[in-house]
Amino acid sequence: MGKEQILIRISGEDRIGLTASIMAILAKYDAQILDLGQADIHSTLTLGILIRIDEAHSGQVMKELLFKITELGSISIGFSPVSDEDYEAWAGRQGRNRYILTIIGRSLSAEQIHAATEVISRHGLNIDAIKRLTGRMSIMHPERNVRACVEFSLRGFLSADDKKAMQQDLMVMGEETGIDFSFQKDDMYRRMRRLICFDMDSTLIQAECIDELARRHGVYDKVAAITERAMRGEIDFKESFTERVALLKGLDISVMQDIAERLPITEGTDRLMKVLKTCGYKIAILSGGFTFFGEYLQRRYGIDYVYANELEVGEDGRLTGRYVGEIVDGRRKADLLKLIAQTEKVNLAQTIAVGDGANDLPMLGEAGLGIAFHAKPRVKQSARQSISTIGLDGVLYFIGFKDSQLGEEGKLC
Ligand SMILES: [Mg+2]
Repeated sequence: MGKEQILIRISGEDRIGLTASIMAILAKYDAQILDLGQADIHSTLTLGILIRIDEAHSGQVMKELLFKITELGSISIGFSPVSDEDYEAWAGRQGRNRYILTIIGRSLSAEQIHAATEVISRHGLNIDAIKRLTGRMSIMHPERNVRACVEFSLRGFLSADDKKAMQQDLMVMGEETGIDFSFQKDDMYRRMRRLICFDMDSTLIQAECIDELARRHGVYDKVAAITERAMRGEIDFKESFTERVALLKGLDISVMQDIAERLPITEGTDRLMKVLKTCGYKIAILSGGFTFFGEYLQRRYGIDYVYANELEVGEDGRLTGRYVGEIVDGRRKADLLKLIAQTEKVNLAQTIAVGDGANDLPMLGEAGLGIAFHAKPRVKQSARQSISTIGLDGVLYFIGFKDSQLGEEGKLC
């Protein structure tokens, strides 16, 4: 007896037991399920089932399904035959060419989603699924809608050059429309990240510690002038660092404690840390700033590794104007990321790096997922993904978490 494929499309008001009653009929006639998918938007369901069934039964199955749907009301059903050739061609297209595009903003407009989907279609990718990762919006309390995130699951072939071009187009789109995005290969590493390395100053905290120390010591202008010269490329990082640290000579370390306790923590950090710790992530701070503040954050969040610059303290409890050990600069941050990954037996593809400065670029480049955070345009352009519209917890959406899984305060439920 011959077999045939039928695509069943059901849409209408969602209710408990609907899929079960459809499946009961299909089971009675021993239908094979070749594909199955469902989307639920505002309590309205769209369900698709591709079945393979004995030709002799197909008429009866469709009749019984139609009868059931009529009995339930507020639901419609449609059937389309699918030829063996069409089915095989479709099945043959499955494979590894899958990508995830995540877009984030304070809110997302049709214009912004149009811009993103336009880039997707221009590069010949098909949208397989669209998912909202942020919670449901309130129209009565718009102040509660602090962020919006949508994830597109995409399919299609991109060569390395195509991928670069798409990345570039997304970058322009993000800049023009004011949204953040990440474009990632949908491989097993995406949901299996294990290590995250953060820059500290202007990433985990909204301050540059050396400026705070300089202010309290009355040498801010001198320190700023050296920073300026370093930015202009007149002196290298090591030289400028040594000069700036020398200016802090005599500062009482109780001042550092005072600054640490008042550090302005970046929006979304508490939520992000709570989730990462719960999920067993290894967390590192790799900072060109100072260990004193890194260790303060380490105690606060249970961070696993801190590598930063250690200021030498004299017996009188004051800074000597010197530092101890090797300076952590951009190259060293990247090396440390690789070293910690090795120690933790984590594949580099499973690492995440987040930072705002030019000295974070090497580690953003090494990590499986490198995220420029509220960074200057030059850093943003060199990174593969960035967050500029919302807080640090935006990282959670790039790794696929949904608000409904996290709870508002990042409490896993
Ligand atoms: Mg920084």
